[in-house]
Amino acid sequence: MTIQTKKQNEPEQGERFKVLQKESAHSEGSLRASARLGHTTGEQHRPVGARAYAAQSATAPLGPFTIPRREVGDRDVRIDILYCGVCHSDLHQVRNEWHNTLYPCVPGHEIVGRVVKVGRAVTKFKEGELAAVGCMVDSCRTCSSCRAGYEQYCEPGPVLTYNSPDTHLEGVTYGGYSEAIVVDEAFVLRVAEKLDPAAVAPLLCAGITTYSPLRRWNVGEGQKVGIVGLGGLGHMAVKFARSFGAHVVLFTTSPEKGADAIRLGAHEVVVSKNIGEMNKHLNSFEFILDAVSAEHDINAYLNLLKVDGTLTLVGLPEKPLDIAAFNLIGRRRRFAGSMIGGIAETQEMLDYCAAHGIISDVELISIDQVDEAYERMLKGRVKYRFVIDMESL
Ligand code: NAP
Ligand code: ZN
Ligand code: ZN
Repeated sequence: MTIQTKKQNEPEQGERFKVLQKESAHSEGSLRASARLGHTTGEQHRPVGARAYAAQSATAPLGPFTIPRREVGDRDVRIDILYCGVCHSDLHQVRNEWHNTLYPCVPGHEIVGRVVKVGRAVTKFKEGELAAVGCMVDSCRTCSSCRAGYEQYCEPGPVLTYNSPDTHLEGVTYGGYSEAIVVDEAFVLRVAEKLDPAAVAPLLCAGITTYSPLRRWNVGEGQKVGIVGLGGLGHMAVKFARSFGAHVVLFTTSPEKGADAIRLGAHEVVVSKNIGEMNKHLNSFEFILDAVSAEHDINAYLNLLKVDGTLTLVGLPEKPLDIAAFNLIGRRRRFAGSMIGGIAETQEMLDYCAAHGIISDVELISIDQVDEAYERMLKGRVKYRFVIDMESL
């Protein structure tokens, strides 16, 4: 798959959105109106306007915006979005903390909704079914990672749900803070009707990002496993690690979260600022998963690993972490990273959650509360994932 580049004399994507917004505004107030945005990759991919919420810069609050969604192609599924989780990555991206944000930015990669239209060649979905989209909407599908089912490590790079070059329309992809999304069925997940769809949404990122490394490092019975940070990812990690049979220790900077951690499945809670408590666990863990969003002392956790123990990072702090070599070599410890999970593994995780009744603990918000939600997330005041009720858009 090739990423399209801008053709000469074509208006910039931002300019074309202005045209779209103007056309939409003139259609008796309806922002759902279709609009032609000039050249596309083919007739079937003519975009249709969809209401969304976007950040126009790293410092502006999010606000209403109209985005193009392509027409449903042969293998596409159009989903009316019911719920979208608020990941800390949305905040990092919106505020340009990773220095690669393209504005306007419509975040959101924890998407659950109803299928409203399917293309002629679609076999996995029917209109009316629940469906989900996570952090990726496509990949090259031919590289060794894609062939192995690790689309998240696609060599040319996966097409992320937002802030990636859009391979159908020009410009960038737009995420789930929007009324609808059109995705190739290969990147759409099935969702069991029996679970609360609002509480399923966070599984699409927080769920798979913690499930995948816990499975990869064979976390299970007879192992002592640490989870660092009780946020969106951390609370799912505690649930999965407990469900897989491990002895689970939750590390937190927030002593008031202790009772919740136990309720969520932790056997023990350690307040990481308390050196005495930390020292009791030196050299004792097989595996630690670090889901912290900000700068912190990683060496304090490396020191808790046994010989051959592994510390896997899923958190993505803005600044690099300092690692003391002696903390690794002394006990042949391993320091690893992990990013979301492949499509097949994401489906496996969703099916596991349906079979075991695992969902996220969520607080439902309306779209106009999203900036406030970011501020609360920064202060660790979320139990344990905000989810946007997209009806409020
Ligand atoms: P979150 O809900 O905000 O949780 C982060 C938690 O980290 C907080 O609840 C807090 O837990 C802890 N924390 C925050 N600041 C800290 C500090 N200065 N020192 C120590 N601990 C601190 O965020 P999230 O959505 O779970 O995401 C966590 C990180 O994972 C983010 O950086 C996000 O971008 C990244 N992420 C990575 C992937 C991937 O594929 N690898 C996928 C999704 C997200 P306590 O209050 O318990 O200390
Ligand atoms: Zn995420
Ligand atoms: Zn690939």
